[in-house]
Amino acid sequence: MSTKKEIRCYQCGETEESSIEDLFGYMVCRACKVKLGLYHDETIKKHAESFQRAKDLNPQKPSYKEEVDYRLIAMEKDYISKRIKLLHIQERLSQL
Ligand SMILES: [Zn+2]
Repeated sequence: MSTKKEIRCYQCGETEESSIEDLFGYMVCRACKVKLGLYHDETIKKHAESFQRAKDLNPQKPSYKEEVDYRLIAMEKDYISKRIKLLHIQERLSQL
């Protein structure tokens, strides 16, 4: 029995290995990677500079890195809350 993990795009299910890459632990095909709209370094620099300008005026404001760190944590919590809610509905439906 093979224990090799199947390589499959998380979004569309593509399994052609040559078009799939691992992005932060998620398998993504070339077409779906384009649709993600990942930022170019120049765009990221502009955002970081914009956040820095705001922080210079008000030190309470977050840096771009702090904002991104915060958003990742908030998004994860939101995802888990929504997943618990759906799993609860699924469980109730199976018992009603
Ligand atoms: Zn895909």
